[in-house]
Amino acid sequence: MLKFLVYCILAYIVFRFVSFWRNLGRSKAEDRKPPARVSGSGVMVKDEVCQTYLPRENALREIIDGEEKFFCSSECRRKCLEAEKKRG
Ligand SMILES: [Zn+2]
Repeated sequence: MLKFLVYCILAYIVFRFVSFWRNLGRSKAEDRKPPARVSGSGVMVKDEVCQTYLPRENALREIIDGEEKFFCSSECRRKCLEAEKKRG
């Protein structure tokens, strides 16, 4: 009977350790995640090249003729810069 009690206590300690480490891992993962969510201004910008709306923090920014432009990819940025060049 005493052995069984000791076994239960050991199992309880192990269980506490496991949940402690699991909580530790989870809180670490949450520490890593929030910045992306918090820093996300929620502002959407338009890529004029492919008419796509995307989060400002994910967009490529370029100042063209003193105007701030946003692009979904370097490919779109290149297209826009080429169009500007052709225009003069
Ligand atoms: Zn684009």
